[in-house]
Amino acid sequence: MAHKIAVFAGDGIGPEVIGEALETLTLVEKRFGLNLACEQALAGGCSIDAHGVALTDSALRVATESDAVLLGAVGGPKWDDPQSAVRPEQAILGLRKELGLYANLRPLQVNRHLVHASTLKPEVLDGVDLIVVRELTGGVYYGRPSERRTGPDGREAVDTIFYTEGEVERVMRTSFELARKRRKKVTSVDKANIMATSRMWREVANEVAKDYPDVEYEDVLVDAMSMHLIRRPRDFDVIAAENMFGDILTDEASMIAGSMGLLPSASLGEGSRGLYEPIHGTAPDIAGQDKANPLAALLSTALMLRLSFQHEDAAQAIEAAVDAALSEGYRTPDIAQPECRLVGCKEMGRLVRERLG
Ligand code: NAD
Repeated sequence: MAHKIAVFAGDGIGPEVIGEALETLTLVEKRFGLNLACEQALAGGCSIDAHGVALTDSALRVATESDAVLLGAVGGPKWDDPQSAVRPEQAILGLRKELGLYANLRPLQVNRHLVHASTLKPEVLDGVDLIVVRELTGGVYYGRPSERRTGPDGREAVDTIFYTEGEVERVMRTSFELARKRRKKVTSVDKANIMATSRMWREVANEVAKDYPDVEYEDVLVDAMSMHLIRRPRDFDVIAAENMFGDILTDEASMIAGSMGLLPSASLGEGSRGLYEPIHGTAPDIAGQDKANPLAALLSTALMLRLSFQHEDAAQAIEAAVDAALSEGYRTPDIAQPECRLVGCKEMGRLVRERLG
């Protein structure tokens, strides 16, 4: 039976990096004798232009009938009107909610060939291997009310952070289960000194921790964590955080690896279906110029093959091919170094495929 993959290339550099990912999947399919059936659909700004909404019911159906979703990124200045009721990111929020994807896994390792692409000192980066588990279906992204209004003192605005204990428990269990397969340490991030949701998060996290006595556990306040993450990133294994804290910390963490263009992610729920996407956005500043780094998208397909389809050999082959291209000095502009072999998005994709055999 074919593995059905719903593909949403999205906006900006999304179609450029997803184009390379799809060509790579086609090659992997042949080489490993897989049966992959990809169906493309619109999401984000391109869907607003075509249909007036960020995600149509039929596009959502393509996702709900798939075994895995591959996504580029959505949004851009063209659709940035803050007053507009229709916004590109509604597509992603809708997909996550409808597919029940509550844990966003963002693995981060420092590639030994790219130590100098980071702004941090090499001795800080040596041996970094962590994974951020970001809660994905709660928090301020979904809390209601979220609105602007006029009050007695003029303009007012309100956002809401809301969590249930069940939402916290399931993402903490995902984090502990992951830690068991890794270096057995979980760091839970919150703002328990200020926020009621964080105090409940910490309470539930500590309860779940009791079921995993073999895993080292700590709570860290998010402001302190943003400092520890770049001062001593090697000390962390699995970092669990609520939606917005996880979002912010992973952009910060991407600088440990060297570029947003390097980091893949997997969003998972109860079943084996996942949504796989690079952590970066649509990068309007470089869109259409063949400058985007496609490696995060390629590595996202490796995560898909591993986590949704259990094709570990195919996943490792992509990761090894990426590593080989980097070891030979090929670099897109975002990770360029003196005397590197500078290439564009398409060429980097081709080089990785060439090394896949
Ligand atoms: P961004 O991630 O698009 O870009 C930030 C910086 O990183 C830019 O300088 C960009 O050129 C660079 N960059 C990002 N990906 C790169 C890659 N693959 N190769 C080389 N350089 C890369 O973030 P932003 O500028 O804050 O947002 C731009 C748009 O993307 C906004 O509309 C935002 O809403 C959207 N966005 C979408 C998603 C998503 O769809 N999941 C995530 C984040 C941002």
